[in-house]
Amino acid sequence: MAKGLDKYQERLNIVSGFGKNLARRSKSKCELCEASGVKLSVFEVPPVKEEPNYDRCIFLCESCIELLKNIKKSKENDFRFLSGSMWSEVAIVKVTALYILNNIKDKYSWAEELLENAYLDEDEKELLKTIDFEIK
Ligand SMILES: [Zn+2]
Repeated sequence: MAKGLDKYQERLNIVSGFGKNLARRSKSKCELCEASGVKLSVFEVPPVKEEPNYDRCIFLCESCIELLKNIKKSKENDFRFLSGSMWSEVAIVKVTALYILNNIKDKYSWAEELLENAYLDEDEKELLKTIDFEIK
């Protein structure tokens, strides 16, 4: 039991250690909605593996983290900011934005319209396939 807890704590330390680099990468703005001057936290894009992976982490504000808990339940304008982040130069940010749009496009036509203009290279297409928020 104690051992499991140590491992959990150790993992947590590694992930929060990414924060410094993520703050630089994001210029201290939420990487999805670009909010600044707010509390930002490291978010691991699921499925989360045992080994923390910096390239699958994004720096997010609390309101985005809340929205990601239930993508399907989002309201029409909740994710409008993805029109900006879908062009991010950071692959995992871009691909996460597109993943969300894919999951709301049947509900909101603006999301479908954005996706018509989206462009992914081969690596990004592969990365997109690995994301799974377990949306039912
Ligand atoms: Zn945000």
